[in-house]
Formats: sequence, structure tokens, C-alpha cells
Amino acid sequence: MKCLHCKKNFLAKDKKYLPFCSSRCKSLDLSDWLSETNKISDSLNPDQDKF
Ligand SMILES: [Zn+2]
Repeated sequence: MKCLHCKKNFLAKDKKYLPFCSSRCKSLDLSDWLSETNKISDSLNPDQDKF
């Protein structure tokens, strides 16, 4: 199967990291997603820090 983060084909031996190939890809993808979420909330709430 294909890793969602690095797009490499891998054998799903360790199912706890699916759909990623490793714990590294899983955490990298999660941090990407979190930074995207932070960008979105920053642009939605530009005045949030003023209060
Ligand atoms: Zn991967």
C-alpha cells in the first residue's frame, strides 16, 4: 500500500501506523495538518491577540 505522507509503497506490517508507513510519517503528517489549521485560524481571527 501507499503511504499518505511520503507516497512510497510499503508493506503494512505494523498496522498501528496505517495509513502511513512509519511513526515518522504519521507524526510529520500530523504536524503538517496542525500548522495548516493554525494558519487558517490565524487568518480567521486576526484580532484575537488584542484582547
Ligand atoms: Zn511514509
